[in-house]
Amino acid sequence: MADLIDFVNYEDVNAGNVGLNDVFDVVGQLVTMNNYKVVEEGDTKKISVLFELQHPSGEKVRCKIWGCHADKLYNSQLEKKNKDEPQIVWLHNCRMTNWEGLQISNQLWGFTISINEPSKPIEDFKTLLATAQQQDGYEYPTIDIRLDKQVQSAYAKFTDPEIKTAYVLDEVRFMDKVCTFVVRGTVEKFAGNEGWYQHYCRVCEKKVIKSYCLEEEKNILSCTKCDRAVTDVFAKIRAIIYVQDKTGGCELALFDTHLSKITNRSVQWLNTTANNGPITSSEYPQELNQILQKQYAFIVKHSLYGEDKQYSGCTVSDLTDDAEVIKTLNQMLSDKETEYADFEDVDYGEADDNVCAQTPQSLKVQTVEVITDEPPTSNKQTPGSSGVKCKSNSPDDSEATDTPTGGTTTALGELKIPKMEKL
Ligand SMILES: [Zn+2]
Repeated sequence: MADLIDFVNYEDVNAGNVGLNDVFDVVGQLVTMNNYKVVEEGDTKKISVLFELQHPSGEKVRCKIWGCHADKLYNSQLEKKNKDEPQIVWLHNCRMTNWEGLQISNQLWGFTISINEPSKPIEDFKTLLATAQQQDGYEYPTIDIRLDKQVQSAYAKFTDPEIKTAYVLDEVRFMDKVCTFVVRGTVEKFAGNEGWYQHYCRVCEKKVIKSYCLEEEKNILSCTKCDRAVTDVFAKIRAIIYVQDKTGGCELALFDTHLSKITNRSVQWLNTTANNGPITSSEYPQELNQILQKQYAFIVKHSLYGEDKQYSGCTVSDLTDDAEVIKTLNQMLSDKETEYADFEDVDYGEADDNVCAQTPQSLKVQTVEVITDEPPTSNKQTPGSSGVKCKSNSPDDSEATDTPTGGTTTALGELKIPKMEKL
């Protein structure tokens, strides 16, 4: 059992001398334990516990372990018979992790944890501790082992103001910093003119531009980075949705993982559908329509981009339609919603295309002519996309780089079609 044991030096851990790829053992006296946490999402549970081990020298190391090992440590303290017995913990095959700070963790299959179990490392440590205790000036460590259990829903990140602030959508319009927050609203329609996927150059992975070539009498794709017409391209999912609450609306960019979550279609299915056709980008698959007219809570990342950070955009980093989450957010936001809605004095009763008139930035974004896909030949619904006309690109569009953004472009300066985040 005790082969290949390589005990780490406490000072080396705290001095940052242990690399993230190093595998090591540590043994010490358990002096603090708190934050035994169970995060529940559906049937799955993520269990973790944070604790400190102390060397007889007084030096401590911070540890965080996950899963059954966390349970084992927690239960050992719960079932502890002799209250005064020092708790000696031996962690075998540890790694350093950087998770809200550096700590010792279990990131290997071979990881084991022993607490006061008969083994040479633990017996040796007990001897060391006993020797130290006999010396003058030895201070017995302060023990702070907490057995409270924190059970947290995975939905807490949507509804706990300590984790993320929730905003009404009108507030998002005036956002001028890079930040992450929660909004909730009804998905009114797909927005933007670019459809539900875009094409990227296989060589440089930049977004390609589609334009109509008069000479060849057909659409061609060109890459601004490679500076030539390209044919080797791939499609990447990115749909812009227009979300509305009582105060206003905004555009959010959704990527494949989120659309997958909503539609119960795998990311692979979405990508295959996008890449193999026969649906064009402006013809949204029926499956995606499930998102329309439904309320969701979104965790949104607001980014600034452009040379002078004059543009901004919102990208969805997580979403849920969990009824409890929506209900909680409705309560949390109701006062603010009334306040903002009164202030704006706008009738939000209608949820149709006129909605654009109430959201200046959205209107402006949509007036920017962008290159669309082929003129739709089928009668399939093309929600939110008026994309019929193919037009050569404006200088603004010609950049088509992967700048982080979603749909909304707020009025921080000259308006410009938002760019998308590189995945
Ligand atoms: Zn290229």
